[in-house]
Amino acid sequence: MKDLPVRRLLLVHAHPDDESINNGATMALYAAAGAHVTLVTCTLGEEGEVIPPGLAHLAPDREDRLGPHRVGELAAAMKELGVGDHRFLGGRGRYRDSGMMGVEQNHREGAFWNTDVDEAAAHLVEVIRSVRPQVLVTYDPDGGYGHPDHIQAHRVAMRAADLAGERAYRRDLGEPHTIAKIYWNRVPRSVAEEGFDRLRAAGTRPFPAVGSPDDVPGVVDDARVTTEIDGSAYADRKAAAMRAHATQIAVEGPFFALSNDLGQPLFTTEYYELAVGTPGEGHGGRERDLFAGIPLPDGGTVPRPAGEAVHGAARGAAGGAA
Ligand SMILES: [Zn+2]
Repeated sequence: MKDLPVRRLLLVHAHPDDESINNGATMALYAAAGAHVTLVTCTLGEEGEVIPPGLAHLAPDREDRLGPHRVGELAAAMKELGVGDHRFLGGRGRYRDSGMMGVEQNHREGAFWNTDVDEAAAHLVEVIRSVRPQVLVTYDPDGGYGHPDHIQAHRVAMRAADLAGERAYRRDLGEPHTIAKIYWNRVPRSVAEEGFDRLRAAGTRPFPAVGSPDDVPGVVDDARVTTEIDGSAYADRKAAAMRAHATQIAVEGPFFALSNDLGQPLFTTEYYELAVGTPGEGHGGRERDLFAGIPLPDGGTVPRPAGEAVHGAARGAAGGAA
């Protein structure tokens, strides 16, 4: 691809909706700042549970049309985040959602969990060598919470990052490219606890019950978190993107719930652990920019979109003006 922006960010996720929940504010921020943001989603999320009763007929045990429906939800979410480059690993429908750990769908033909990691990674190598991102965001080795597709997304992303840089590997997939920094999605335990305190203080309405930090993928001790991205100026964008995944997420103000009906806080500062690469300069110990420390042709560091205030951050005086 010719003439891409200087900063290029690649995110690898398991299902449509994971990107908006984990990284929606980060994606909106970097897209608005002029970075090239590429999302690769590994499955169509065919095995998800459907929240709105009116769409229950799409479910895998009924019409099994949830996958194509979620393609549309993802496209709408990307519009909200300002991200134009979103792809499915190996092409749309190549890999199927494997369902939760232990279910028979894990072993189905074509299930992502059942797929050879190197074979799947080759598709991602082609994307990496084409877009040439400096930064990759994905899950930790446990996939954040043990879902087979999330674990597999981690394995495929890490393997592809290795292979993309190997000079001898598959030159038909493009010129070798080494990704400078790889991050895993995280939530600091103190932030998760504080978020649930807020939710409890607000009463359980409108959700039947309140979750706990154990229900949030990627929660770790604060000390492991190397990087935080303040996306509060893009809170509205993130909430809108999450709403676009209407079969999967119910958003209510600064909270949301998945199909388990457990209320959770919606985080607009998003957190990361630098897993590969050299940390850049931090503030208060944590990096504030995924590209920190990476030599870039324009020499810039923290991206601040020139027109940040106009980019929809209605609750913005607090977020923007500095
Ligand atoms: Zn997922």
